Order: sequence, then C-alpha cells, then structure tokens
Amino acid sequence: MTVTGSCHCGKIAYELDEDLPAEGMACNCSICRRKGNLHHFTTPDKFALKGSRDDIATYEFNKHIIKHHHCKTCGCAPFAEGVGPGGKAMVEINLRCVDGIDLDTLKVTQFDGASM
Ligand SMILES: [Zn+2]
Repeated sequence: MTVTGSCHCGKIAYELDEDLPAEGMACNCSICRRKGNLHHFTTPDKFALKGSRDDIATYEFNKHIIKHHHCKTCGCAPFAEGVGPGGKAMVEINLRCVDGIDLDTLKVTQFDGASM
C-alpha cells in the first residue's frame, strides 16, 4: 500500500512506500507543543516528495539536526528531515497531513522531548 499526504494547498505532497501507520507519537518539546504534529518516522528510501523544493521553507534551531519544513503558501508542515540516533537519515511524517488516516483511532505515544 502507498501512503499519501500533503500540505493544505497541495504544493508539498508525498508518497510513502508503507502501510498506513496505526501508531503516532506526540512530543512536548518547544516546537512540537506549538505545532501539534503527530509524528511517524521513516527512512528516505521509502519517501518520495511530489512537487518542488522551491515551495518549501525550512526552519532550524538548536543543534540544527532537524530540518523543520513548511509550505511557503499555506504554512502547513507535512514532513521534516533530519538525522536520527546513530547518524541515520530520517524523515518525519506529520500524520495530521496524511490522507485517509483516522486520527481518533491512532495509538498515540507521548514522547518527553522537553526533557532532552
Ligand atoms: Zn501548502
């Protein structure tokens, strides 16, 4: 199955070579508590961006290990890119931007990012 997602205006869209996730992660760190993303993590080989990187603005802070992307037009943040534990490239998917997902039945795990 292929998972699809996008920002509100559709300029940033993607496909994931995975089944629809049944679990997500919420984080209480300084940026996540403001944005309210529900995270799912994948690897770049399973992620295909549809559209142009010219439509993406990127915010970085602290150690600059995560590229917090958002759409220049509508402001939504459907994904981010970064380096995970062990130096491995990771893609964060915001499950709130994924098509056809039932957010009310997702098993959500709380991550204490604020303490890191
Ligand atoms: Zn947009």
